[in-house]
Amino acid sequence: MPKSYSRSQKSASEIISLSKRDDNWLLSRLDYLWTNFFSDVAQINPVSIGFGRYSKLRLGSVRLDRTTKKTFITLTGMFKDERIPVEVVDQTIAHELCHYAHGFSSPKPRLHKYPHYGGVINKELRKRGLVNLIKAYAKWLKEYRESL
Ligand SMILES: [Zn+2]
Repeated sequence: MPKSYSRSQKSASEIISLSKRDDNWLLSRLDYLWTNFFSDVAQINPVSIGFGRYSKLRLGSVRLDRTTKKTFITLTGMFKDERIPVEVVDQTIAHELCHYAHGFSSPKPRLHKYPHYGGVINKELRKRGLVNLIKAYAKWLKEYRESL
């Protein structure tokens, strides 16, 4: 009798537990993006980045602690899943960096009334030569929404 072969299907939590993506990896992505695409944006306060809890809908956020004057970028723990393209993670970090540059969740002067006013984030990403991240994110988001 031939032996049947079945490839084991790992669950998302198994994949995440084996992931090499940790807060240090996020820090290296932030450094890469800031150095290469946001070098004109001065860092005027401490900025931290890390994974938060697993959220399917809230993919990233940035906040300023008014007391300590520190900025925190948080990404969904879902992004530890290495099946999610690195460009999607980079897009999310770059999005939060745009907020920082525009004076939202940063001590910088506010450039707009609202953080997403008139598509300012994608305009900023395009201006900085990051249209590839916009495209990669849109492609992933379409498939992701269909899988929800
Ligand atoms: Zn935003």
